[in-house]
Amino acid sequence: MRFLTLIFGTMGSGKTAELLRVIGKLQENNSRLPIGSKLKFMVFKPVIETRSGKTTIVSRNGQRFDDVIAVGNLRELALEISKNAPDVIIIDECQFFETGVGNDPWHFTELIRELLTAGKRVILCGLIQNCYGGKFEILSSLCPEANEILNPHTTCSCGQIASHTQRLQNGYPTPITDPVFLVDDSSNHDLGYSYEPRCNDCWEVPEKPHPNLVIFRNALEKIRDLKP
Ligand SMILES: [Zn+2]
Repeated sequence: MRFLTLIFGTMGSGKTAELLRVIGKLQENNSRLPIGSKLKFMVFKPVIETRSGKTTIVSRNGQRFDDVIAVGNLRELALEISKNAPDVIIIDECQFFETGVGNDPWHFTELIRELLTAGKRVILCGLIQNCYGGKFEILSSLCPEANEILNPHTTCSCGQIASHTQRLQNGYPTPITDPVFLVDDSSNHDLGYSYEPRCNDCWEVPEKPHPNLVIFRNALEKIRDLKP
């Protein structure tokens, strides 16, 4: 059954909807199999991803899957897999296994290769490219070994195909000097961060923050200093 599926696209491209479609298909196929030959599948995500709750994956169009295991790091992921021995391993938001304590992109890809060698089906979803055009190692290094690549696209506000994720703060593109890893959650929304899909022509990566962004950030700092 060894089979590797990769699902990637810009933020807002519909990759989570695509992942949920693949999971739905697995569930449907399983329902037709006799008891005893049903496939055991497990869905994981990094605990850092809190946009859709700790045990849930929710697509932007409202579809959801409620039986997700959130793991703190790569070690926890490997432990859960060895403890439960699933036939199909599904991991969402893979790029977050490249950062944080106990995570390493090369150890992650090694684990995936071991699972494939053991005959497992593996489905990975996430970002392949960061908002500054650099690559995320996990999905980009596994591309040549993938048996299936699902790469949904959405459109830029100008109407062209979006091929990048644009990070904005208070409406201004953030500069390349900003950190790559920033979770798309409510605490960062409060700091004015948002994302939009953009085409090659509209995507911007400034070298330095826009002057208005500097004013906005200074104002934020002052508000923070006022807090006890
Ligand atoms: Zn555009």
